[in-house]
Amino acid sequence: MKRRDFFKKFSSIALLGSIPVVLKANNYKPEYNWKMVTTWPKNFPGLGTGAEYLAELIQKLSGGRIKVTVYGAGELVPAFEIFDAVSSGVAELGHGSAYYWKGKNDIFQFFSTVPFGMTANEMNAWLYKGGGLKLWEQAYFDFNLVPMAAGNTGVQMGGWFNKEINSLSDLKGLKMRIPGLGGEVLRRAGGTPVNLPGGELFTALKTGTIDATEWVNPYNDLAFGLHKAAKYYYYPGWHEPGTTLECFINKNKFAELPEDLKEIVKGAAKIANLDMLCEYISRNNDALQILQNKHKVEIRPYPKEVLEELYNISKTVVKELSLKNNFAKEVYNSYTSFQEKTKNWNDISIKAYLDI
Ligand code: CA
Repeated sequence: MKRRDFFKKFSSIALLGSIPVVLKANNYKPEYNWKMVTTWPKNFPGLGTGAEYLAELIQKLSGGRIKVTVYGAGELVPAFEIFDAVSSGVAELGHGSAYYWKGKNDIFQFFSTVPFGMTANEMNAWLYKGGGLKLWEQAYFDFNLVPMAAGNTGVQMGGWFNKEINSLSDLKGLKMRIPGLGGEVLRRAGGTPVNLPGGELFTALKTGTIDATEWVNPYNDLAFGLHKAAKYYYYPGWHEPGTTLECFINKNKFAELPEDLKEIVKGAAKIANLDMLCEYISRNNDALQILQNKHKVEIRPYPKEVLEELYNISKTVVKELSLKNNFAKEVYNSYTSFQEKTKNWNDISIKAYLDI
């Protein structure tokens, strides 16, 4: 196509707002065909759409040089096998959250969230400016993976219950779906934690297989219809105060990229990280209003004494992770000292401001 004709065609198509058509018409050939495997159902709100968005960004920002095809949970490999799949090179990219892989190393949990840990902003500050990402890269190095933060849920909700929680003793004997360290804290408070994939929560709660469940936040919980199976919706999500979602890349595949594409992939993950948090913040209150006003859900705070007792148990549970080896101690010390540092500043900035 002659240059003049190209611009003629480009401008007429651009006027229609269809620039991607122009790219296609010029036959950009991908230099890298990558597969992304995820722990989410395809296009699941917030999480699955976050994975799609990241794939799309990598493709667009690289001018089509990297093509990413996204596979939902179970399409290429089961949800909880994506870590091994990317590690071994079955797929180039994975999208999940680090606490799912605590079976490999339970210190990984610090790279998604821990009970009474950091909020989304604090997590991002720790990862990008406080040495957190370097430690994460070190932690995944032996698994042949390069990790990146690729989303955050913000503070989650405490969960769905069919009875009131007025004291810690109300948690005794309670069978609740609550994964990870939060589950361990519940166990030490006398409850029975169980883990179930998101898609099974509604039926389990409705049929009484479990007494209570946590999931994410109003936007995601409304989508699952959890309000049809429980009466009380407690806050805050003390067990997940700012869960980081991750994208990890096969180390060899990442090393093959030229420097500009490496930076593009890293930049795309940063954009996706911000975008998911914004999506949750912008949608949660609308969903909360629907739950409260249309579905008459009772939104309740955990009593202060319950939170204080859970806090004390959590500190012990989280500290135990640091006792395994020197690296675990290094991650724990880095995380907790950063959290302490930001707390001092938060007290006279965001907390003081929101308390007005
Ligand atoms: Ca959760």
